[in-house]
Amino acid sequence: MSLTSDETLVPAGLRTAYCGSLRAADSGRTVSVCGWLARRREHGEHLAFADLRDHTGIIQCVVDGARDLRAEQVLRVTGTVRLRPEDKVNPGLSTGEVELGDCEVELLSSAEAPPFSLDARSETDEAVRLRYRYLDLRTDRMQHNLRLRAQVNSALRRAMERQGFVEIETPLLWTPTPEGAREFAIPSRLQRGSFYVLPQSPQIAKQLLMVGGFDRYYQIARCMRDEDLRADRQFEFTQLDIEASFVGQAEILEFVSEAVIEATFAVSGERPPAIATMTWNQALDRFGTDKPDLRFGMELVDLTESVAGAEFNAFKAPCVRAISVSGAGEWPRSRLDALVARAQQLGAAGLVWMRARAEDVLESPVAKFISEAHQRRIVDATSAEPGDLVLVVAGEREPTCKVLGQLRLDLGQPAVSQRPFRFCWITEFPLFEGVDDEGHLVAAHHPFTMPHPDDIDMLETDPLRVRSQSYDLVLNGWELGSGSIRIHRADVQRRVFKALGITDEDAESRFGFLLGAFRYGAPPHGGFAVGLDRFVALLAGEDNIREVIAYPKTQSGADLMSGAPKPLTDKALAELGIRVVSPPASGASRVSGA
Ligand code: ASP
Repeated sequence: MSLTSDETLVPAGLRTAYCGSLRAADSGRTVSVCGWLARRREHGEHLAFADLRDHTGIIQCVVDGARDLRAEQVLRVTGTVRLRPEDKVNPGLSTGEVELGDCEVELLSSAEAPPFSLDARSETDEAVRLRYRYLDLRTDRMQHNLRLRAQVNSALRRAMERQGFVEIETPLLWTPTPEGAREFAIPSRLQRGSFYVLPQSPQIAKQLLMVGGFDRYYQIARCMRDEDLRADRQFEFTQLDIEASFVGQAEILEFVSEAVIEATFAVSGERPPAIATMTWNQALDRFGTDKPDLRFGMELVDLTESVAGAEFNAFKAPCVRAISVSGAGEWPRSRLDALVARAQQLGAAGLVWMRARAEDVLESPVAKFISEAHQRRIVDATSAEPGDLVLVVAGEREPTCKVLGQLRLDLGQPAVSQRPFRFCWITEFPLFEGVDDEGHLVAAHHPFTMPHPDDIDMLETDPLRVRSQSYDLVLNGWELGSGSIRIHRADVQRRVFKALGITDEDAESRFGFLLGAFRYGAPPHGGFAVGLDRFVALLAGEDNIREVIAYPKTQSGADLMSGAPKPLTDKALAELGIRVVSPPASGASRVSGA
């Protein structure tokens, strides 16, 4: 699908046409095209074919062979569009039927030999591509991905504005927010010894906008978290951040659904169906994860009832679950042993495999401990057909489901680039995700998340069972973002802080300004943030978010092109009142692998 609309692509300035736009119907036109020399081939004694590239594509120009043309030079070529001889038509190129003849070539800028061939991007080490990112950006892949990203942003903006949301920018120089991530600190020159913090999200700022009467806010916001980098995480990332007042969870889900569906349609032509909602508990039971990939089946099956009373000891557990792998009944023993090892590595006590057979029901090393009646019940529950493989794990519910959820992904998950786009909402997350070393509960989302109305009374008595009014958006097995209805009542907030071990003084010093604002009339409100880097990566079919970011950092946090981070000069440090106590990381480690 083309990402550049013809109406906006009007050639101007030095060019009268774009390279990739020329077709047979343009024959006879004299045009000027501008771009980079993609490659050059000799053509007889005096002529050469010069392929000129701009972001729309490539046009073959027949030029005077005497000229000294080199790859990546910037050229303006004026020539006449003409049909190629029939046997020279290139069906692989949008301009493959034509070429530019009688060309006059103007060298706009010379170019040294590039450090890597743009045609050989996939074989080029990523560190080299990042070091010369401006060259990498010229490749089709990066052009496509970043233009797709721009289209996603503009579709999201359209959808939010249509729904009455107002775009408001919140500060980058800010103060800590309690969302759990390590923050970047910026020293204040004017107030020595004091620091700003780069926002890990506009969370508090947007809640204050609600107090301020902007009842539908959105922002395409940059967020910064000083956490270890991974394929799906950078220090800085972008979110579609929203907050709305006088609405509940259903409305927030609807606002966000509308935006992500519009963006998906804008760049893929695929309009996903209305987004289904599943509770956290249902997702765990059916998929063994809170970010289910709905593009494929292999759902978890509860066998606890089916195997009740079975002799086999391992099945005498609180939870017995299985997945059935279609057509895997012939897998060799070595492969099955590897699955058992994988399950153990994931934390299971063991894994029972069973081959569904036409004659003797189930073939398994443990079949002799399981009566035929129980075997039949297992086959019925899993709907296993002869030739299928049934994998069973037993133990406590949550770890059992999670092990099988991971095996389901290992064995069945399609490639990132495989359509369709299957979104889903996960709701009713637990309010607390566990207990820390000091015995305090840990918030699963953030401390302003409203407990589920039916569970508020368990806050003090059975807190780990309290569900929250928080929700995640998931796409094809990736978590795209989270949100929640916020606590706007001081009494509930006090109880949640208490459960989290946040004292009144603590609360006052960390986010007193938010609590203070709430004393002046806080509307009921809630919001959400969609991680755009991940969303765009999925829409572009990329499994690494660096492929959809213009200037990403490497795993060690370095920008290989600019050399950041770098030591400051002594003068700059003195001005900030900062003395560096340990030597800066060596240059060598800054440029280590991507
Ligand atoms: N601030 C949250 C986050 O960054 C999103 C939200 O609750 O709106 O994950």
